[in-house]
Amino acid sequence: MAKRDYYEVLGVSKGASADEIKKAYRKLSKQYHPDINKETGADEKFKEISEAYEVLIDASKRSQYDQYGHVDPNQGFGGGGSYGGGGFGGQGFGGFEDIFDTFFGGGSSRQDPNAPRQGSDMQYTMRLKFKEAIFGKEVEIEVPREESCDTCDGSGAKPGTHPEKCSHCGGKGSVNVEQNTPFGRIVNKRTCQYCNGTGKEIKEKCDTCHGSGRVTKKKKIKLKVPAGVDDGQQMRVAGEGEGGVNGGPNGDLYVVFVVAHDEFFEREGSDIYVEVPLTFVQAALGDEIDVPTVHGKIRLKIPAGTQTGTTFRLRNKGVPHLRGNGTGDQHVIVKVIVPKKLDEKQKDILREFATTTGDKVDENSEGFFDKMKKAFKGE
Ligand SMILES: [Zn+2]
Ligand SMILES: [Zn+2]
Repeated sequence: MAKRDYYEVLGVSKGASADEIKKAYRKLSKQYHPDINKETGADEKFKEISEAYEVLIDASKRSQYDQYGHVDPNQGFGGGGSYGGGGFGGQGFGGFEDIFDTFFGGGSSRQDPNAPRQGSDMQYTMRLKFKEAIFGKEVEIEVPREESCDTCDGSGAKPGTHPEKCSHCGGKGSVNVEQNTPFGRIVNKRTCQYCNGTGKEIKEKCDTCHGSGRVTKKKKIKLKVPAGVDDGQQMRVAGEGEGGVNGGPNGDLYVVFVVAHDEFFEREGSDIYVEVPLTFVQAALGDEIDVPTVHGKIRLKIPAGTQTGTTFRLRNKGVPHLRGNGTGDQHVIVKVIVPKKLDEKQKDILREFATTTGDKVDENSEGFFDKMKKAFKGE
């Protein structure tokens, strides 16, 4: 099957900024997340969205995609005609150097490693008890995340010293590498391995971060879990992801909720279902019973002649709607229990009861056996 254009998948323009791509991805991934969307095909759609996002958010993968379209990295040059994006002739092709740059991973050298970059987004799974998800809660979580090192201010150099020009690349961040290829000898620009393209060399490393400029810290974050969240839903906490690089902004934190089941209550969206037992005497004569709800006990009137499986609705006794006002309902399903053990006196009472009604289930209906007899006679 032909793959759809990644930009089309995310619904963004070819010139979309990383921010726009992120926004589009978040919106769509929420909509089609298999935990939330149970429609057939949602799964595939989610995969397609994730794949498009992975490529378009990565500057080097994106530029490769812009040039070649969908390329199977295993196919290399001999690939089966999947160069969708304009082919070899078009779109700013500078020569073979560019091809090698792109194919051998040199493409990332175009991105300045010293430029400010936003920190990565993080995901945190929060387990909630059944009622916590219904009523929400305030909680403090501890998230280990990468941040700029305070000791050296992120430079990686021992306090009092400064990073110097990389002696291997002269501070350029890249080196020229000669290669023999089927096309002849080619000089290729490669990222300097000693400084990873930063052009800086740290002579005396910071003791805290050992020269990386980054440390992992446990950050305490206060969160307000809104009332009404459901299993599989996620909440975005802006700016609480990994710390930015080179002074860039922090990433975001995504809190994913996993909600525990309850012994009595069953939840479906903002409605709650509960099954309550009734004796056949209560069902036949009617009664008033206490019914548990997540909001406390409620008195429920059971009319005489209630059948097993009858559902009563308790309005606004369900789950608060996550957005906007209102609350779902609780549905009470009654189950009439037939006693398993009866003593002789009870049996006698029931036998006597049976003689008064025959086999009729109620006074208005014909007895089951009467009906059967008629059926055999052909009446
Ligand atoms: Zn440091
Ligand atoms: Zn270097």
